[in-house]
Amino acid sequence: MKKLVLLPLLLLFLFTGAHAQSYNHMKADSLLKANGEIYFSFRIDDRAELDVLTNIISIDNVKGQDVFAYANRSEFGKFVKLGYEIRLLTPPGSMLTDAELMKPANTTSPSGPELWNFYPTYQQYVDTMAYYANAYPSLCKLDTIGTTTQGRLLLAVKISKNVNVDEAKPQFLYTSSIHGDELTSYVGMLHLIEYLLTRYGTDTKVTRLVDSIQIFINPLANPDGTYHGGNNTVNGATRTNANGVDMNRNYPDPGYGPHPDGNAWQPETIAFMNYADSMSFSMSANFHGGSEVFNYPWDTWPRLTADDSWWRFVGREFADTIHKYGPAGYFTDLNNGITDGYAWYTVHGGRQDYMNYFHACREVTVEISSTKTPPASQLISFWNYDYHSYLNYIEQVLYGIHGIVTDTATGLPLYSKVRIEGHDKDSSIVYSRKSNGFYDRLIDQGTWNLTFSKPGYYSKTINNVAVSHYSGVNLNVQLKSIFYGTGELNQGALTIYPVPASKDIHLIFPETDSKKWRLDVVNIIGVSIYSSEINNSGQLIYKIDVSAYPEGVYFIRLSNNNGIYRKQIIVKH
Ligand SMILES: [Zn+2]
Repeated sequence: MKKLVLLPLLLLFLFTGAHAQSYNHMKADSLLKANGEIYFSFRIDDRAELDVLTNIISIDNVKGQDVFAYANRSEFGKFVKLGYEIRLLTPPGSMLTDAELMKPANTTSPSGPELWNFYPTYQQYVDTMAYYANAYPSLCKLDTIGTTTQGRLLLAVKISKNVNVDEAKPQFLYTSSIHGDELTSYVGMLHLIEYLLTRYGTDTKVTRLVDSIQIFINPLANPDGTYHGGNNTVNGATRTNANGVDMNRNYPDPGYGPHPDGNAWQPETIAFMNYADSMSFSMSANFHGGSEVFNYPWDTWPRLTADDSWWRFVGREFADTIHKYGPAGYFTDLNNGITDGYAWYTVHGGRQDYMNYFHACREVTVEISSTKTPPASQLISFWNYDYHSYLNYIEQVLYGIHGIVTDTATGLPLYSKVRIEGHDKDSSIVYSRKSNGFYDRLIDQGTWNLTFSKPGYYSKTINNVAVSHYSGVNLNVQLKSIFYGTGELNQGALTIYPVPASKDIHLIFPETDSKKWRLDVVNIIGVSIYSSEINNSGQLIYKIDVSAYPEGVYFIRLSNNNGIYRKQIIVKH
């Protein structure tokens, strides 16, 4: 009896469900036509499903068994075959009424915080960035990172004392809205630019940051997505770029290769990769929306970074500061506002892991507000909750261990590897900058042993460097070349015969206490055509076969810890 009653009900249920799904798919189709992407949710049984799903669709959030995701047409085509029951959601970039967006102010010359309660038009954004560079030429410089798919500008300002010089200071980057519909920090970053520039010289903290750091701010990483609805409104903003590609899945991945999403690198991705190559960012943050959490690396795999405890310390400070200035319940997702990326949900091809793994940068993903595009009237409130954390996070780049690496003999800056003994892993090693030898090793409090190394130089290890929170250790290091000694030595001490030579030439090394030698034969245009490293002491006799050398003049260059010997030889057949 029960069965007879239940069966029709079950059939009805199945029919209704299937009907709802086909209706959903039709609606999805029309949304895909209009926006190039859809936003939807579905349920999973097991978190392991996420490891597969993350390669098919763009997962945006996971709350228990509920997954929130975006997909473009081809992604959705693959996803549909998996048979999940979906619920279509209103695109977050199209939820605001005109009144909530507020009318953009007419001015492009910001003069106070009252101007940060609206979403600027594209042109206002470009003009505002230019305005600051023009109004503060010694503190602010406008960089064009590149051009988007549709030809909009990817812009960053650099803010620093002596902004036109690459001084030996850390380089710090803020960037927002790589997902074009996550806009709270887009306006927040514009506000931050104004805050830093107008308070420089009067506000102690701001002055210290601008004096000691090169601060780069890119408020809008995906202008094509943000202005999908036209240059005059952010209404209709999309997550993806104009090609429907989620650019926070489009970067080379430490575990999944150069194209983890199967898409070509987008113009925006290439522009940013070139920009990162031309810089040496020590630390950065990429602002998003949709949740409220400080999401630190890694996203791609469950391994922890070498500096996991440092990340938790910095993340805790970021979240706790927001808790101090924000309303109850704000920025409390996951572990009260912080999470390891993978522990939340895995992402491949994210910019955070790319910057950490391939650029020795400490980049975090910050989800700044649950509402991706809040009513414009709330933007000032978010600024007031968040800006202390924005400043504190920048300030952290001044701590840890930093300094300049130079050549003992010439004093010139050196590009050198800086390794923390017994600590570094998964590409956490940092390097000093080619331009000025500056390095910056952010690290948790503790006592650390650092080894500085560079091919052609003797490595140097400095033990027991004590680091505490909220103070920076300045550690300048000189490395000695094994190629060039520190000075010319008594040239008579090196004996060479025969001159000229046609086959073997013999070198009688000087008698010194040095055991390590570097020997080069250099041709007339100064190119080393033979080199060897030799470990020996005493009166070594060394033979070089020159029978294959073209006739002419060559130089023997022999160096050790103490200096260099040079002698001319002649090859004649
Ligand atoms: Zn996002």
